[in-house]
Amino acid sequence: MKVTVFCENDEGLRNNPRVRKAYPNGFGQSIAAVFGKNTVFVPHDKGEDGSALLKYLEDTDVLVWWGHGLHKYVSDEVAEAVADRVKRGMGLIALHSSHMSKPFLKLLGTTGTLRWRESGDNERLWVVNPAHPICEGVGEYVELPHEETYGEHFDIPAPDELVFIGWFKGGEVFRSGCVFNRGFGKVFYFQPGHETFPTFRYNSIKRILKNAASYVAPKHGVGPALECKHTPAPQKR
Ligand code: ZN
Repeated sequence: MKVTVFCENDEGLRNNPRVRKAYPNGFGQSIAAVFGKNTVFVPHDKGEDGSALLKYLEDTDVLVWWGHGLHKYVSDEVAEAVADRVKRGMGLIALHSSHMSKPFLKLLGTTGTLRWRESGDNERLWVVNPAHPICEGVGEYVELPHEETYGEHFDIPAPDELVFIGWFKGGEVFRSGCVFNRGFGKVFYFQPGHETFPTFRYNSIKRILKNAASYVAPKHGVGPALECKHTPAPQKR
């Protein structure tokens, strides 16, 4: 399985002491490390249009996306290329603030808006679909000592599969793990992962991400562009 991690890596993120403390080996690099050493990390800096990703996209089975402050710089061409490849079979894992990323919104067709608060409260991430492959080995819930609070209403289409619901100390709840089928591909949105908390270093979160990559990876490869085919009637028996 070929995994590509596209992640913001601007100066603000790199030099933030809280991010450096949570991720001494680099933030995006730490996300990439979850998926094994053959994973490609494509950093995204301020002002770049994201086209560095195109070099790897057609060789990617699962694309992992983390974006927050640089969504607007990603070109529509890149977003369209990602959405197109998902519809042809590629898996997409959209992490945390990628709920506002261009490819995610293009695939979902909604605003992706939610309510949020950066208070460092704890989150209890409940498994609501225990038979689902993404939560294999995770237990009944994952306790995160600190996360950014995300709350409903989350403006997404009804998920095809709801895997996790997050509960936050302030009382909010959130659809934290959702699968959407788009064309031949699968999209997994996963809420935890604010950059100043070491969320991606927890074993339970790593397990979920690895499970998710296996789940959304194309089982029969990524196909050509979908098209309307004129076909003769099937033969009568
Ligand atoms: Zn955040």
